[in-house]
Amino acid sequence: MTKYQRILLKLSGESLQGSCGYGLSTDVLRSYAAQIAAAVRSGVQVGIVIGGGNIFRGLQGAGRGFDRVRGDQMGMLATVINSLALQSALEQQGVRARVLTSIRMEPIGEYYSKARALECLEAGEVVIIGGGTSNPYFSTDSASALRGIEIEADVLLKGTRVDGVYTADPEKDPAAVRFDEITFGEVYRLNLKVMDMTAFTLCRENGLEIVVFDMDTPGNLERVLAGERIGTRVKME
Ligand code: UDP
Repeated sequence: MTKYQRILLKLSGESLQGSCGYGLSTDVLRSYAAQIAAAVRSGVQVGIVIGGGNIFRGLQGAGRGFDRVRGDQMGMLATVINSLALQSALEQQGVRARVLTSIRMEPIGEYYSKARALECLEAGEVVIIGGGTSNPYFSTDSASALRGIEIEADVLLKGTRVDGVYTADPEKDPAAVRFDEITFGEVYRLNLKVMDMTAFTLCRENGLEIVVFDMDTPGNLERVLAGERIGTRVKME
């Protein structure tokens, strides 16, 4: 038995580079795909949004003289590359996976719509939604919040390399303490960073809970789905 029927899993692009420092690590892809395959086999419907930071971020481009909008478009295309890589890794593990894109680019992926996403999820396919929100000045955190709400996911699972939300950045402050649970209100009050504010507010206003957990430890996705208290759960009240 799993705690959730349908999830939206957000994976950062940066995690996909593993120890390579740039681009795609086949080890990380394989490890993520194995965890997602186990989730699918337990009967959970899985929607996924992946970032593009391992390849390109719009803000990086702006810092190097690129037009911001063009840079963001490059970033959105990077998320499609990552989506295709994860689709391949999933198929190698015998899991049916479909890439839907927020920007039309058949035959690379079908054009995203809620109806099509639900059809694929209900048929047991993993649905990877690439291309962000299709708009510049947004992030894939916002895309994951938006798509999570649209597909009526029970929860947004943010898989990162940090194992939850801390009182301070644990990579900088050794005294930082992790929260097991925290409310949306407390996150605002304490000025903590779970996702960017646009994404975070979208979740809050639409009643979508978030669990931040460390996806780089194999088996953690299954543990979250089984209701184990790992990571940090961000709840409404
Ligand atoms: N991006 C965008 N609109 C979106 C989603 C993403 O313009 O709706 C661009 C933006 O430039 C961003 C890049 O795509 O920097 C990669 O996404 P993100 O930084 O969220 O990836 P992550 O940090 O998760 O790897």
